[in-house]
Amino acid sequence: MENVIEIQHLSKSFGTNEVLRDIDFSVRKGEVVCVIGSSGSGKSTLLRCINLLEKPSGGKIIYNGENILDDRHDIHAYRTKLGMVFQQFNLFNNHNVLNNCVVGQVKVMKRRKEEAEKVAIKYLKVVGMDQYINAKAEQLSGGQKQRVAIARALSMEPDVMLFDEPTSALDPEMVGEVLKVMKDLAKSGLTMLIVTHEMEFAKEVADRVVFMDKGVIVEEGPPEQLFNQPQKERTREFLKRTL
Ligand code: ADP
Ligand code: MG
Repeated sequence: MENVIEIQHLSKSFGTNEVLRDIDFSVRKGEVVCVIGSSGSGKSTLLRCINLLEKPSGGKIIYNGENILDDRHDIHAYRTKLGMVFQQFNLFNNHNVLNNCVVGQVKVMKRRKEEAEKVAIKYLKVVGMDQYINAKAEQLSGGQKQRVAIARALSMEPDVMLFDEPTSALDPEMVGEVLKVMKDLAKSGLTMLIVTHEMEFAKEVADRVVFMDKGVIVEEGPPEQLFNQPQKERTREFLKRTL
């Protein structure tokens, strides 16, 4: 299966702190990859390097056969192909739901407003938030905000969706509704790279699980293998602490 993104020897340092070391991995089209690991292991930095919110210190990110870290590369076009969902939603709180999903399409993709609204409504339906198009973001619950944030990212029709602990900031009773939406998206064939602490979710939804510790990928494999027959001691210890 074709790779959507391939990462080769990626490294990232903040000053003398080497946060990512020699990371190699790829995400194939239609694949759901979950990244797990302790806090501070570099998971967010990895996602932020992939979408160039951080500048990698070294290595390659291959997209459509080209290294997008090459100076000549059109980073803007690349970034519009990545949908990003953060822990903290990052919605415009004083805008309504529809507008939150329209602004990026109009500004970045240069879609006409009417077309952008149609696309937004399509994806707000997917996340079950189409009844709320006129509500202000600030009036929504955390779970509803996160579902709108997912619809906003989907509205850009990205090649891959990156999620950084999308349920970590939510009250426990709202985690389920967001995971449900993500499960449905996974089943629909969307390519997804998900940093998560939700081990049951990862077991159920991931095609592949990547375990990171101290800036390296320790082990990766299908969920049955990684969770039930981890090969590395570090993985076993992490799972003992979290399961
Ligand atoms: P995780 O998401 O797995 O919890 P992070 O990627 O957030 O881990 O952080 C990994 C390491 O990188 C931590 O030691 C953190 O302090 C450091 N770090 C992350 N972002 C920055 C930054 N902008 N400046 C300096 N250090 C950072
Ligand atoms: Mg993080």
